Amino acid sequence: MGKPTGFIEYPRQSMAKRDPLLRLSDWYEIYSHHPEATLKQQGARCMDCGVPFCQADPGCPIDNLIPEWNDLVYRDRWEEAYERLIKTNNFPEFTGRICPAPCEDACVLGIADPPVTIKSIECAIIDRAFERGWVRPVTPEHRSGKKVAIIGSGPAGLAAADQLNQVGHEATVFERDDRLGGLLMYGVPNMKLEKKVVDRRIELMRQSGVRFRTNCDVGVDLTAEQLMAEYDAILLACGALRHRDMDLPGRDLAGVHLAMDYLTGVTRSLLDSQFADGRFIDARDKNVIVIGGGDTGADCIGTALRQGCKSVLNITRRQREPDYRDEFHPWPGPTGAYFLDYSHEEGKAHFGRDPREYGVLPLEYVGDDRGRVRAMRIERLEWERMPDGRWKSHRTGIREDLPADLVFISIGFTGHDTPRIVNDLGVKEESGLVEAEYGRYATNVEKVFVAGDMRRGASLIVWAIAEGRGAARSIDKYLMGHSNLPSPGITTQLASSAG
Ligand SMILES: Cc1cc2nc3c(=O)[nH]c(=O)nc-3n(C[C@H](O)[C@H](O)[C@H](O)COP(=O)(O)OP(=O)(O)OC[C@H]3O[C@@H](n4cnc5c(N)ncnc54)[C@H](O)[C@@H]3O)c2cc1C
Ligand code: SF4
Repeated sequence: MGKPTGFIEYPRQSMAKRDPLLRLSDWYEIYSHHPEATLKQQGARCMDCGVPFCQADPGCPIDNLIPEWNDLVYRDRWEEAYERLIKTNNFPEFTGRICPAPCEDACVLGIADPPVTIKSIECAIIDRAFERGWVRPVTPEHRSGKKVAIIGSGPAGLAAADQLNQVGHEATVFERDDRLGGLLMYGVPNMKLEKKVVDRRIELMRQSGVRFRTNCDVGVDLTAEQLMAEYDAILLACGALRHRDMDLPGRDLAGVHLAMDYLTGVTRSLLDSQFADGRFIDARDKNVIVIGGGDTGADCIGTALRQGCKSVLNITRRQREPDYRDEFHPWPGPTGAYFLDYSHEEGKAHFGRDPREYGVLPLEYVGDDRGRVRAMRIERLEWERMPDGRWKSHRTGIREDLPADLVFISIGFTGHDTPRIVNDLGVKEESGLVEAEYGRYATNVEKVFVAGDMRRGASLIVWAIAEGRGAARSIDKYLMGHSNLPSPGITTQLASSAG
C-alpha cells in the first residue's frame, strides 16, 4: 500500500474526458489524459484492503491485480505495473477505455466514499506502455504442431487466439467481415474506441504469429467438414448479433432502422472514405428517436449528435434509476444508480437536457403520405416499486405523437446469427446460445468449444476476454493433456473443477 492516508487526502478524479461540446465536432476519442501527478494520487487512494473485492467477479471478471498496479503507479514503477497488468488482461487498451468497470462498483472504498478510479489507471498504464515501446510481439519459443480454428474476431476470439499462440499452437482467426475486431470494430463507435487502437493490437498479434482470414463466412466459404478435417480444435466465438426487432404498426416505414445497421454503416463509411461515399444513414437536421437504452442506445445518441441532428430522444419503458445505490443493489454488486454516459453528457450540453425519457411505451411508428416515418406514437407509463424490490408498470392512457424522422431500434440481441455452422457442426443450442458449461467451454461435439457472447448472451468486452482466456486454457488442456495457461477464476471452486 503506497500511501496509508491517500484515500483520506485525495478526492476521486474520474476518467478525464474532453469537453462535451468540443468533442461533438469530431469523431476522435472522447478521452483526455490526467497528468502523471494526478494518476499517482489516484493510485494512492487504493486502501490495499485485505480482501480486494475489486479483483474478482462481481468486481473484475478477468481478476486484474488491481491493488498491485495501483501501488506500483503510486511508486512511479510504471513498467512493473504494466507487467502485472498483462498477466491477466490481453487488451487493457480496450477495457481501460470502454469497460463499465464493475471493479469500481466492488471497491471497498466505495462503501463510504467515491471508489478508486481503477479504469483510468489501467488505461494510463497501457497507454504509457505503448508510448515507451514496452508492448512487443510475443512469439513462442516452440511450436506444438497443433492447429486451432477460431471463428469470430471479437474480443473473445482475439483473447483466445493470443493465449493459444503464446503456448505454441497455430491459431487462425476467421472473420466474415472485411475488418477484424467484431463489435470492437463495427459496433462500438470510433469516439469510444478509435479503430487505430484495435488495428494496432491486431497487428501485434499478427507479428506474434496469429493468422487472420477476413471475408470468410464460416459455414458458407469454409464448411464444417473442412474445419473438422483440417483443425485439431475449433472455437466458436461468433457473438450474439441477432438483433431484437420491435414489430409495431408502421415498422416498414422508411426511416425506421435497427440500431446496428445505423452504427455499422457510419463506422464503415468513416473508415472507408471519411464519409465521402455517402453510404450511411444521416441524422443531420433530423428528429431522432432511439428506442431502448444500454450501450447501443447511448452510441446511437452520440452518433446522431455528431451528425448534427435536430433533436434526439432516447425512450425506454423502464423507470429512472435511483440517484444512489439502494437496498436492492447491495455492495459489492452493480450500483444500479442513475449516471450520465458520455453521449447523455453530450446531449445535455448541446440541448440542455439528458436525452433519456423513462416510462414510455412505444405503440406505433406513424408515417406521412410518402411512406416515411414522421412520429412515434407512445403511451406514458407509471412505475410502482413493490415491497420485494421489483417494479410494476401501470398504463396511464396518456398518449402522444413524438416527432421523428429517424427511429433506431435498440432493444437488445437474441443470440447468434450464424445458424449454418452451428447446425452443420451439430452443436447443441438453447435460445440462440451455444451450450457449454462456464469454466469448461466444451460443447457436446468433440473438439468444438464456444466462448463470449455466443455462449453467455450479449454481455461486455471484459467478459468476452475472460471467456476467451478460459476457453484457451480448456483447448490447450484438450490438446496437450494439461495446461499452464492462466484463466480467470482459476482459484475458485468452479474453475479448479474444470482443471
Ligand atoms: C453498439 C454496442 C456498443 C457496445 N459497447 C460496449 C461497451 O462500451 N463496453 C463493453 O464492455 N461492451 C460493449 N458492448 C458489448 C461488447 O461489444 C460485446 O459483449 C463483445 O464484443 C462480445 O465479444 P465476442 O467476441 O463474444 O463477439 P463479437 O464482438 O460480437 O464478435 C463476433 C464476431 O464473429 C463474427 N462471425 C459471426 N459468425 C461468423 C461466421 N460464421 N464466420 C466468420 N465470422 C463470424 C462476427 O462478424 C463478429 O465479428 C457493446 C455492444 C454493442 C452492440
Ligand atoms: S477490465 Fe474492467 S473490471 Fe477489470 S479492472 Fe479494468 S475496468 Fe475494472
